[in-house]
Amino acid sequence: MKIVSIEAMMLPSKGFNPTNSRPVLCRINTDEGIYGLGEAGTSFAVGSDSVFAMIKELSPIVIGMDPMESEVIWNKVYSTAYWTKGNGPIIFAALSAIDTAVWDIKGKALGKPVYELLGGKFRDRLRCYASQLQFGFYDTLVPQYTEEDYRTVAQIAVDKGYDAVKVDPFAFRRAPSSGLFSTGDNFGYFSHDTLNLAEERIGATRDVIGPDRDLIVELHCATNLETAVQVAKRIEKFDIMYLEEAMDSLVPDAMKALADRISIPLTNGERTYLRQGFLPYLKDRSLSMLQPDIGICGGISEMKKICDMAETFDVGVQAHVCGTPISVAAGVQVEAAIANFTIHETHVFSVQPKFTALCKYDDFVPVDGYITVPSRPGIGQDLSDEALERMIIEKVGD
Ligand code: MG
Repeated sequence: MKIVSIEAMMLPSKGFNPTNSRPVLCRINTDEGIYGLGEAGTSFAVGSDSVFAMIKELSPIVIGMDPMESEVIWNKVYSTAYWTKGNGPIIFAALSAIDTAVWDIKGKALGKPVYELLGGKFRDRLRCYASQLQFGFYDTLVPQYTEEDYRTVAQIAVDKGYDAVKVDPFAFRRAPSSGLFSTGDNFGYFSHDTLNLAEERIGATRDVIGPDRDLIVELHCATNLETAVQVAKRIEKFDIMYLEEAMDSLVPDAMKALADRISIPLTNGERTYLRQGFLPYLKDRSLSMLQPDIGICGGISEMKKICDMAETFDVGVQAHVCGTPISVAAGVQVEAAIANFTIHETHVFSVQPKFTALCKYDDFVPVDGYITVPSRPGIGQDLSDEALERMIIEKVGD
């Protein structure tokens, strides 16, 4: 079997979701008519145009190769694309999308789900947490401001059957008229008002979910070392499962210092690449769980290696997911196939009708807080006709 063409695909943002993200995917076509899908992890924030172009730039390296040789393909891109050696979200998002599409082809060619190719399914169901509740959940996808808002949205997650939630206390200021927090807010020292805001929102969430459900607090790198310590000391009484992205992932020493100064376990990884990027955090034992994104860390090939490396350090893993149902499906494949799976992230976007309309299969939306791992070949997901009609698609090859 040979790869004959690669299509870069991008969904325009119009009417897609509240953050105006433009997800980028790739479809790899073979001479046997089998195709594979993969997604770049840069659906949100900036980068979509660049990753779309990078997929096209990497395609000539891959076209003509045998898709069953996923390791050979990955290493050919890594060793010849020059900028791969040194990191960067654009080139690794493109490589990740290509690698995931290659695994999708392998599974379809063999009639097996990817988890079986990775060594088998450790579990039939994945425990999920309701993620990023500050954006709302299910039918109420709007920014949450007040303590009462946080209570209401936490109750929706509980009612849907989740026994774990994640929320960011600093995504929005107290009221729409106050604007967003700015980058200047995260240095120096947080005001009492800012700390009170975190305490009120996290406290309200804990109050609603009760003592027997888990609570992850997301900081999206809005804190530095000192402010993260301030926040952690304010909220540790709420029994926090993990504190996520408390700091820039380029500073392992600072993360270690934070781990030494607070009692809440730390997690990080959606802006970290390759095993090499995660290794310092395992060696210094600053992170208690890793969160690699399959669409950024190097694809399914690299994700499995990162997970196995973490297992040797007794550290668990959660796939970071914030994209279309294609990235959710890829994450589920790896999470099913690793011994050290901790919990699956169900982003608020993943349960929106606009998102589920992009795909053919809806069984990746949790039921009572769990996803039952499907047994369809490849990654087990496909794009809907509606998604294909809306996409900008540019093809390299025949
Ligand atoms: Mg995050």
